[in-house]
Amino acid sequence: MLKPGDTIGILGGGQLGRMLAVAAAQLGLRVIGYSPPGDNVAADVCSDFFEKGWGDTQALSAFAAQCDVVTWEFENVPLSAIAAIPANRLRPGAIALETAQDRLNEKRFVEQLGGRPAPYAAVESEEELARAIEQVGAPGILKTRRDGYDGKGQWRVASAHEASAIRFPGVACVYEGFVDFNAEFSVILVRGENGEVRFWDSSENVHEDGMLATSSLPHSDLIAGQVEAAQDLAKQTADALQYVGVLTLEFFATPQGPVFNEMAPRVHNSGHWTIEASATSQFENHIRAVAGLPLGSTQTRFANVEMRNVVGAEANSVFDVLAEDIEAHVHHYGKAEAREGRKMGHVTRVSSAK
Ligand code: AMP
Repeated sequence: MLKPGDTIGILGGGQLGRMLAVAAAQLGLRVIGYSPPGDNVAADVCSDFFEKGWGDTQALSAFAAQCDVVTWEFENVPLSAIAAIPANRLRPGAIALETAQDRLNEKRFVEQLGGRPAPYAAVESEEELARAIEQVGAPGILKTRRDGYDGKGQWRVASAHEASAIRFPGVACVYEGFVDFNAEFSVILVRGENGEVRFWDSSENVHEDGMLATSSLPHSDLIAGQVEAAQDLAKQTADALQYVGVLTLEFFATPQGPVFNEMAPRVHNSGHWTIEASATSQFENHIRAVAGLPLGSTQTRFANVEMRNVVGAEANSVFDVLAEDIEAHVHHYGKAEAREGRKMGHVTRVSSAK
């Protein structure tokens, strides 16, 4: 168990790291970040920050030597970089990253546990792409197995006619059938060192152009009957990975029950509302879990919650919302460039204390 003044290392330098570092600071823990040069907005709130490449094993070892525990905020940290961190100091363990970095692996993993992803086929060549579309059917989505995020590395196939217009992108992919879902939701849990698991309420998530736009509570009836089965699968996943920290699974709610979309071995955008609306936020509980501290209550404190992402140039006028709504909370990630389609911050609105 860490003590006040001990140090947590975070691999990755984005907004998730920034919010994790703020939560750690509240507990009197120091945070050191590590990420290749770039717009590392976590660095603003860390005690120290290594702007070094993932291939720099010497820098990674020097970083790890200063940390009591190392975690990550970014699931695409190369496994070769993870190997430079002593396994007994790394939480969650490398197996979680290995599983979740690859869309094909994670689908197979949850299938073994009884979970149901959309129908899919692996694609490693032009011929396999044609075969996959034939086998799975259209409409569907071709996704790169690795490195995709916020709808990037994805190509939609609207119909079998259109299939010939889609080229194999030259990297390993998975083609999956389009799910005609009623709604989308996520299960976010935290698992402690001792195996204790707590769930936050499942928000209803709306995506625009493949990127999360809003997460809200209460969720609709379309989701209500599906959360329990989804939580069961998420718990089995966390147990099988001997996971320590916050784990997210995203689902489609369908008339046949929850369909697994993907997992994120980390705090998640659809859990940002927990900062204001939960007894303990996803960020604080992740820090508590990896620090070996007791977990906090995940109970929701408000009847109505909405988190909306602030994207691109919208961020320039984000403070306007404060004048309109005294229950609005603005989070600006401090990114230098408000590029189109870039997540710049979020606004959470809460009402009706429970
Ligand atoms: P992903 O990055 O895989 O989570 O995809 C981002 C968003 O695209 C999802 O949250 C859905 O809104 C949509 N999407 C992705 N895959 C599918 C699918 N197989 N069927 C329907 N919608 C999908």
